[in-house]
Amino acid sequence: MTTVPGLALLLDGHESRYMRQQRQGFAWLRFESELEREYNSFNALGFRVTRQAAMVLLILTLLAFLVFDLSIVDRATDLGRSVLITRVLMIALAVFCFLRLRKTYDVEAGARWTMLAQGSTSIGTLLIILLYAQGHADFKLPLLLDGMTLIFITVLFPLGYSFWNSARMLALVTALGWLLIPNLVDAEQRHDFFVQMPFQLSVLTALIAMRYYQEHATRAQFLMNGSLQHMACMDGLTGLHNRRAFELMVRQSLCQANREHCWAALLLVDVDHFKKYNDHYGHPAGDETLKAIAQALARVPMRPLDLAARVGGEEFALFFYDVDQEFAEKTAARICRDVEHQLSIPHAQSSAAEVVTLSIGIALTLAGEDLDPLYRCADEALYQAKTAGRNRACLASREPA
Ligand code: GH3
Ligand code: MG
Ligand code: MG
Repeated sequence: MTTVPGLALLLDGHESRYMRQQRQGFAWLRFESELEREYNSFNALGFRVTRQAAMVLLILTLLAFLVFDLSIVDRATDLGRSVLITRVLMIALAVFCFLRLRKTYDVEAGARWTMLAQGSTSIGTLLIILLYAQGHADFKLPLLLDGMTLIFITVLFPLGYSFWNSARMLALVTALGWLLIPNLVDAEQRHDFFVQMPFQLSVLTALIAMRYYQEHATRAQFLMNGSLQHMACMDGLTGLHNRRAFELMVRQSLCQANREHCWAALLLVDVDHFKKYNDHYGHPAGDETLKAIAQALARVPMRPLDLAARVGGEEFALFFYDVDQEFAEKTAARICRDVEHQLSIPHAQSSAAEVVTLSIGIALTLAGEDLDPLYRCADEALYQAKTAGRNRACLASREPA
């Protein structure tokens, strides 16, 4: 599997699971389980309209075949009526599945309706071939090869069914076709059928290869999208979320907090005297310190809507959803303590301590408040922590809105 040149370098050691999967390859058209689930939704929802258009195309093709049937079969015979009834049933089922597909956004239900449409159309096609073969003496049509090709096309039609599901259905319907057709036709047709076998196999191979490459390309596109999205949201130095992602996600969480009437807390974290640190120990050492601090912040226990981000040069932000003042203050105090005593990175130029320390501004919000006033509030509290001597956390003095 190829990657975009330079992409791995840009990631600076923080490899996303998309990039990891891309590196590991996916020749069997399967990702690791969580990514596979994500891909299935991407595939089902991202190509929803295209799939529906393909379904309409399938229905129109079936209608065209109905016209063909009407022009060729004798409606007065049982055989003719059977062909027409089968065709109409196929169309009705395909339309029904199409209508269900339009309604559902559920990935599994979508796969079920697609399977029903594809399965009924291919089995129906096989049935009609057999019926036509029975009336061979009247129709004189070389339908066996064309018919099998039609079945292959139907099963591999890009309606959204996965390659492996299509392959399973293809194996089933083709086996049925190869079993039934030679046994239900006359000797001359059987002979024709076996003579046509190499052609059938070449058509089958070509269609399977096309379907494989199509799914491989879609999967590669999914991984590339994921990698780029990951990079757009990630801070290259520390591997935490960047400010852009932070703002986007916190705004969403605040909306949810608004709906659920719960509290949220924002902690703005700033490294004390970091300019002096850089000046004294050098910029590369400064970078290492930022990474170590980021790792310490990433270790703070987080629930799904909580977030740690690097929001500026030596500034970080932590967002906690549905917490109270006590939790916010205790967490901030613990972070300060851990960085001072556990990381314990020497800082000879700091007036706050002999090691690298942090100052933290805490702001609590009630649901309904936007990010900007909350951020300003935490920033003011951070300023208080700085002026009070650094290496401490301060809570914004206002009453939560
Ligand atoms: P204070 O205690 O008041 O926060 O003082 P400070 O020196 O930490 O704050 P100031 O804003 O004056 O300086 C921030 C410094 O952070 C300046 C800059 O050299 C450093 N910095 C910003 N981004 C990076 C980075 O990515 N890597 C390194 N090594 N240093 C950075
Ligand atoms: Mg700063
Ligand atoms: Mg600073």
